[in-house]
Amino acid sequence: MKCEIIAVGTELLLGCILNTNAQYLSEKMAELGIDVHFQTVVGDNLERVKGALKAGLQRADIIITSGGLGPTDDDLTKEAVSEALGLKLLPHEPSLTKLKEFFKKINRPMDECNLKQGYLPEDCIILNNNNGTAPGVMLDKDNKIIVLLPGPPKELIPMFEDSVYEYLRKKSNSLLKSRTLRIVGIGESNIQGILKDVFDSQTNPTIAPYAKSGEVHLRITAKSSSLEEADRLIEGLEKTVRERLEGNIYGTDYETLEGVVNKLLTEGGLTISCAESCTGGLLSQRLTSVPGASKCFMNSIITYSNESKEEFLGVKHSTLEKHGAVSEETALEMAEGIRRVSGTDVGISITGIAGPDGGTEEKPVGLVYIGISCMGATEVHKCLFTGGRDKIRYNTSTKALDIIRRILLKKM
Ligand code: AMP
Ligand code: MG
Repeated sequence: MKCEIIAVGTELLLGCILNTNAQYLSEKMAELGIDVHFQTVVGDNLERVKGALKAGLQRADIIITSGGLGPTDDDLTKEAVSEALGLKLLPHEPSLTKLKEFFKKINRPMDECNLKQGYLPEDCIILNNNNGTAPGVMLDKDNKIIVLLPGPPKELIPMFEDSVYEYLRKKSNSLLKSRTLRIVGIGESNIQGILKDVFDSQTNPTIAPYAKSGEVHLRITAKSSSLEEADRLIEGLEKTVRERLEGNIYGTDYETLEGVVNKLLTEGGLTISCAESCTGGLLSQRLTSVPGASKCFMNSIITYSNESKEEFLGVKHSTLEKHGAVSEETALEMAEGIRRVSGTDVGISITGIAGPDGGTEEKPVGLVYIGISCMGATEVHKCLFTGGRDKIRYNTSTKALDIIRRILLKKM
């Protein structure tokens, strides 16, 4: 089945509001296994709304509109649908009574124009609105379903969930289910190479990569008539992908890298401290953004200057003189230093050149050393990141989280 979403409202065309209703409805259609081939936005204009409807009816089995059910003159979705389909708008007594009672309850006189909301197309299914005055409308005839929903999301979403979702689910003989595998430490093109045959031969489930900052998300989507079958299809493909990408997959769906690291630390009963230079606290910010981080995160020092690296972390003056602040030796002493002064199980250090200035041929912008001192051993990773200052800093924090994750998985 195909669905078309028509959002009605001049304010959408003027850019005053974002079309979040279309996003919501499209997401729900995907969940229901109903294909959306077109989304339209049309202004509050009778002829143009009628035109959008007629075009939609040529292409789709289901039309869902949002907006234009209100009391004012520019709310004319019902009028447009009735004219397009040759249906009369008839007074609907229960809706009219409900409107009158609503105004009595809020102790405000009802303007005549409000009555308009109680006029509905003949033979329609009425969708209750528990969060506003405009009822929704559903027409199911001649193998076409037309659903008219109110514009405000706080009315549209409950109405869709209460009265439309189940109705469409029964009509749709398939559903879509997705699982996202979240990957770090390997680039999108690399993944394309490793999974080339899987990408080339995909039918059901399908698989698609999305590059995110410092990560890649692989979305596996199965189409089926039952959830169990969809799960089974996803699991089959997921197994192949996991075998090929192994430790690069850190989580699924809504898991975050910082969330996974927090979980590993907490489950292992381990504590962590950070000494950050070029990231200015970004790693600590990400680690502490996870609820419950206080169980594992002890403290962090931003040691930006050489002096602070000596004073707070005990980095040797001679190390800084001989190798510089951005060096393997300094990163190592920073990691051991923060771990020692904090008394934690894990100490992390970051020192690098985030740019745009400060790079040399020997130490270019994007050069970062990440140290990790953990359970009696310290190692330093030399990394070279590309991009601007923000990207270098963010990707450094991602890399640091991934280094912690991999070490914890190895040690546990
Ligand atoms: P309407 O029923 O078209 O007068 O819309 C009423 C209100 O609902 C608008 O002022 C917006 O705040 C909201 N709204 C309408 N359409 C949308 C949409 N497509 N996405 C998000 N909000 C919307
Ligand atoms: Mg409007």
